[in-house]
Amino acid sequence: MSKTIQSALISVYYKDGLEPLVRLLHQNGVLLYSTGGTQTFIEQLGIPVTAVEDITGYPSIFGGRVKTLHPVVFGGILYRRNLAEDVAQASRHDINPIDLVVVDLYPFEETVASGASDEDIIEKIDIGGISLIRAAAKNYEDVLIVSSRNQYADVVNLLTEKQGATDLEDRRRFAKEAFAMSSGYDRAIHNYFAGSTTDSSDFRQLPAQSLRYGENPHQQATFYGDLNALFDQLNGKELSYNNLVDVDACVSLIDEFTDTTFAIIKHTNACGVATAPTAREAYLNALACDPVSAFGGVIITNAKVDLETAEELNKLFMEILIAPDFDPEALTLLSSKKNRILLKRKPVEFSPKMFKTLLNGVLEQDKDNQTETAGQFKVVTEKAPSDSEQRALEFALKICKHTKSNTIVLANDGGPSHGQLLASGVGQTSRVDALKQAIEKARTFGFDLKGAVMASDAFFPFSDCVEIAAEAGITAVVQPGGSIRDKDSIDACNQRGMAMVTTGVRHFKH
Ligand code: 5GP
Repeated sequence: MSKTIQSALISVYYKDGLEPLVRLLHQNGVLLYSTGGTQTFIEQLGIPVTAVEDITGYPSIFGGRVKTLHPVVFGGILYRRNLAEDVAQASRHDINPIDLVVVDLYPFEETVASGASDEDIIEKIDIGGISLIRAAAKNYEDVLIVSSRNQYADVVNLLTEKQGATDLEDRRRFAKEAFAMSSGYDRAIHNYFAGSTTDSSDFRQLPAQSLRYGENPHQQATFYGDLNALFDQLNGKELSYNNLVDVDACVSLIDEFTDTTFAIIKHTNACGVATAPTAREAYLNALACDPVSAFGGVIITNAKVDLETAEELNKLFMEILIAPDFDPEALTLLSSKKNRILLKRKPVEFSPKMFKTLLNGVLEQDKDNQTETAGQFKVVTEKAPSDSEQRALEFALKICKHTKSNTIVLANDGGPSHGQLLASGVGQTSRVDALKQAIEKARTFGFDLKGAVMASDAFFPFSDCVEIAAEAGITAVVQPGGSIRDKDSIDACNQRGMAMVTTGVRHFKH
């Protein structure tokens, strides 16, 4: 049943990102109640708000341990609007309805991770907030619960679309997410008391976040982890399952680079990567690799996004942009598209392990955290790669490692601190197919492969790849080596005046 929100209780720890929601509620004539810090924040926006103290008749006591825990508040959330007896009792006890509850809990895990004292950690166990979440979620028939600051954008979109109202289905979805949030929160507290650390090997111990759906709309999905610890979401809708998969691919790839680099990811594979002295140039060169695939892509950079780069980025329809920082004007411009997800990365180390479920079991392995540099290349041909080729080979190898096997990556070096992905062959069942796909793609987008280099994730079982590459103009190759027929490929290089280096390290990615 559709219900219009007429009153809201807002009590949030982090106030950033709250403003658009508060403004929208105010615009819709919603009566606002709030706790101390949140009340000050709302008042500073020039929006009228009633202090919870004014309806409970109690001040916030014991250093904030008891703020909202009062029958007037919980009654207003929990009474059943369609039950005459509840309605009569509410009226008898002067309990007014609360139709929307917005909570962002005390950051318990962040406090534990910061190495705070036990005393500080205990104070960060949210009591009232978690109770508000559970109460509002329980009464989803009548109340909408927003249980995390990650949902502000989502709820603004929803209320805009439905003119200040929600349907039962919406409220049930938010209630489901609320219980995922509260159970994850309590698990984190339990872990703290049990003295256990949380990593993804014990994934059910991590905070759980329900996703709208999985890889496809008919698949249910949950994310176990804490995105707030990794990113500040500055704009856009909620991250989807596929978004998360691509964001992970982006982060892994970009961390290979130290110079200013942009990467564009589609379905976990790079369809554009470039290093250049300026962010704008790096972005434009990355985009040039395959502007068709870039549409709807997920983009990452290791540089601060400035206005001139943002002006270029703004022309592209993208799902997500991830950066370590944004200039304020760049952020304003990029936020002009309300669904565009903007993530500001926090400097966080990732777990060195990875897991995959199959055959009713779980595979665990170390992440492929090894990257070979020119110093580790073994020249196996008569000709050694030039400095420029060597840089391009290093660049190509970094991308190759993060691309689905079988893969061939073609790249160029435009001088020191430059590098450009020209094309890659991705996830093919033979290396020859991967190379053919890469060559064709490079040509489609106008690249001349003369003097380009090639990286392969695994060895060449035959000399055919080298022969095809030479024909296309490629002059240097990096591959792990280790085939019993390595010599065939090396001879083919020598006959064609190509340079080949081996690394001894295979980089399959299935
Ligand atoms: P504010 O900054 O508005 O003073 O406090 C907001 C925070 O207080 C939110 O994180 C919310 O979850 C939490 N909170 C709300 N009511 C209570 C309560 O009764 N006890 C405790 N411990 N926290 C509360």
